[in-house]
Amino acid sequence: MDIKSQTKEALVGVLAEWGHPAYRADQVLRWIYSQHATSWEVMTNIPAALREKLASEFTLTTLGFVRLQGAADTTRKFLWRLKDQSFIESVLIPANPALDGDKSDRHTLCISTQVGCAYGCRFCASGLDGFKRNLEAAEIVDQVLAVERYIQANPPTTPEGTAVAPGEKIVSNLVIMGMGEPLANYDNLLTALKILNAPWGGGIGARKITISTSGLAPQIGKLADEPFQFQLAISLHGATNATREKIMPVNRKYPLEELVAACEYYQKQKGRMMTFEYILIAGVNDAVAEVAPLASLAKRLNAKVNLIPYNPVEGLPWQRPTEAVAEAFLNALLKRNVSATLRREKGGDIDAACGQLRLRTMKEANASKV
Ligand code: SAH
Ligand code: SF4
Repeated sequence: MDIKSQTKEALVGVLAEWGHPAYRADQVLRWIYSQHATSWEVMTNIPAALREKLASEFTLTTLGFVRLQGAADTTRKFLWRLKDQSFIESVLIPANPALDGDKSDRHTLCISTQVGCAYGCRFCASGLDGFKRNLEAAEIVDQVLAVERYIQANPPTTPEGTAVAPGEKIVSNLVIMGMGEPLANYDNLLTALKILNAPWGGGIGARKITISTSGLAPQIGKLADEPFQFQLAISLHGATNATREKIMPVNRKYPLEELVAACEYYQKQKGRMMTFEYILIAGVNDAVAEVAPLASLAKRLNAKVNLIPYNPVEGLPWQRPTEAVAEAFLNALLKRNVSATLRREKGGDIDAACGQLRLRTMKEANASKV
């Protein structure tokens, strides 16, 4: 077990069994989540014997930095190596004060939950290589800490960049939209989010954590019964079974009727607005005829629609529509009084869509082997 997979209650319990008071847990957790400690030795206020005991019972592993794409004042994509040599990605997006009013030193981090993905959406780079394994809770948690460690160790050289003082947190929002299907790794995801949400851990508010799913209806129902106000984003990409089935095999397992029922239950339990992610793929789901069913679903579920022009993936045939087509789709939704936005930034410049940096790195590694 890794120490970063432990909630405070679990750690207090273990320490009590060993005959130690609860404040020792606070000390350990402060070292890990406030001081970004990467070894037991630095925890100098913990007695040496207890440090040794902790080290023999728990691992304290950290993600290995492999490469970084993007400049300090834009979106930055991190590629990490896990202990089994697999790769995962996290994407750091600076807050846009003009857009969301947030201070510009706050960031949204997009994190991964699995190595690969079993759901095989036809347009997605993450599923291309199939599914390898679930991430442990610690591997989900450490994506936040690893980004903060990296930025502390590599202060920005431009005035636009964000410097991080030791112990300072820069990740204010989390989106679970990296590689993998988060709800297919339900237990580890929930443990990780409890840790990242807790005041003694990541300190990120539940309302600032968005879980994106391709539509695992039963798990959406389960999540609705949890005592957390996480935001839910549904990767819809089609508002009829016919369109959705063309690009998302998961729709055969959980057709729209079932997905919508689960979303309605989530809505009822949480009383919050949800989002529909809708990537626009040329000639697949961008026809004006798709607008009416999408608008009626959005209204029924009180959902906001995020339109995202598709990021082409090397080796896949799909393209993004022209700007005119995307704008027309947006305007048709707005005309029906649906709350909708169209992403216009050029994330494609750094392969911003999930799984793409990993895919490129694996291809390069394979090419250099032959
Ligand atoms: N498995 C989850 C979360 C990870 S994918 C899910 O599917 O929701 C995060 C988002 O990126 C999803 O909405 C997914 O459809 C989208 N996505 C995947 N490949 C993309 C691409 N090439 N261009 C734009 N968005 C993409
Ligand atoms: Fe998996 Fe999400 Fe990619 Fe679909 S879009 S293959 S569910 S990561």
